[in-house]
Amino acid sequence: MLRSAFTEDHQEFRKSVRDFLARDVVPNAEEYIENKLISRAVWQEAGKQGLLGLEIPEVYGGGEAGDYRFNAVAIEELAGVSMALASSLSIHFDVVAPYLVDLASAEQKQQWLPRFCTGEVVSAIGMTEPSAGSDLANLKTTAVRDGSDWILNGSKTFITNGYTADLVVVAARTNPEQRAKGISLFLVDASAPGFERGRKLDKVGQPEADTAELFFDNVRLPADAILGEVDRGFAYMMERLPQERIGAAVCNVAHAKQILQETIEYTKERKAFGASIGSFQHNKFLLAELVTKIEVAQAYVDAAVVAHAEGALTAVDAAKAKWWSAQVQNEVLDHCVQLHGGYGYMREYRVARAWMDARVTKIWAGSNEIMKELIGRELAL
Ligand SMILES: Cc1cc2nc3c(=O)[nH]c(=O)nc-3n(C[C@H](O)[C@H](O)[C@H](O)COP(=O)(O)OP(=O)(O)OC[C@H]3O[C@@H](n4cnc5c(N)ncnc54)[C@H](O)[C@@H]3O)c2cc1C
Repeated sequence: MLRSAFTEDHQEFRKSVRDFLARDVVPNAEEYIENKLISRAVWQEAGKQGLLGLEIPEVYGGGEAGDYRFNAVAIEELAGVSMALASSLSIHFDVVAPYLVDLASAEQKQQWLPRFCTGEVVSAIGMTEPSAGSDLANLKTTAVRDGSDWILNGSKTFITNGYTADLVVVAARTNPEQRAKGISLFLVDASAPGFERGRKLDKVGQPEADTAELFFDNVRLPADAILGEVDRGFAYMMERLPQERIGAAVCNVAHAKQILQETIEYTKERKAFGASIGSFQHNKFLLAELVTKIEVAQAYVDAAVVAHAEGALTAVDAAKAKWWSAQVQNEVLDHCVQLHGGYGYMREYRVARAWMDARVTKIWAGSNEIMKELIGRELAL
């Protein structure tokens, strides 16, 4: 189906991202998987291409695109290459960026944003803790005042870019008497004494995305490390999670669409019983169903992207896009593995990796169950 969400400007940008990926990333993709790390050179090249500063004001070196569809285009193209690439870079330019743009003071922006745009600073966001993921309001990391400073203690887990990040937006409890209303956000410089990283976590998929535990042992934060107002952190996160979820949905659909396309090509080439496997009616109908599912999911996600670009996306619609796209992505990729037969189970095949890479999308950015909880609440059952 012809997509109408994007204009010529977006398509031109898409081409530039595609060229960058083909030139600087695809040839080294295997190396990133082996090293379990996307090299800094990729970040810096992405910075030069304007990917990292899409939402950042020009005065700090960004592109100030002012249109979420550019973020969506970047995420789609990254996801077509690998989920890990999309998740690592988009945490920075799509998830962390709005916190800095909306909430940081002029001094904080000056300190971080120019290097954020060039890729010299890699960022992460630390919400999840070993004992609190879905139940974010129950987080245990504390930030306690000491004069005008804050002392940070606690830990975070499953933090994307955590192993290499220079800057982490950390959610910490500043009022032990409150739940959601006792949480604040801090800009934590990873070079601060007492900031420690655990090992790179051994994930089922996305090996090249660095995911880590973070530990804070009496990390002294200056007064100006707080992001926005004290005790408003939970509200800030809730306001920005819809963008994280629509970004996840864009990624889910683009990733599954790309691997489905590659699978269709495979089913044309692969022969059994003297015919291509795609020509058997069962497989032909299956592929027809999968193509339809992707296009229908794409239409909903595109509508949500446009709504977000116009400032009209609701948290509930973002939740619908997130859980549905994750479900469709995982269903489609499971069939893609099946259509590859034994090769589909071999890590050296993109389809096998994509299947492993995708499993997390039903868990992160708010699990699919939490998305349904949000949707269910609106039904006032
Ligand atoms: C690879 C990876 C990268 C990640 N990156 C980041 C990151 O950069 N920053 C960050 O802060 N976090 C990150 N996360 C954390 C992620 O957001 C959490 O794992 C997720 O929110 C779920 O939290 P949990 O793991 O504590 O599971 P739990 O909250 O313990 O949930 C366990 C199960 O119970 C279900 N459940 C919980 N509550 C309910 C309920 N009320 N009703 C029904 N079911 C429920 C959940 O859906 C899930 O199936 C990442 C996770 C992974 C795996």
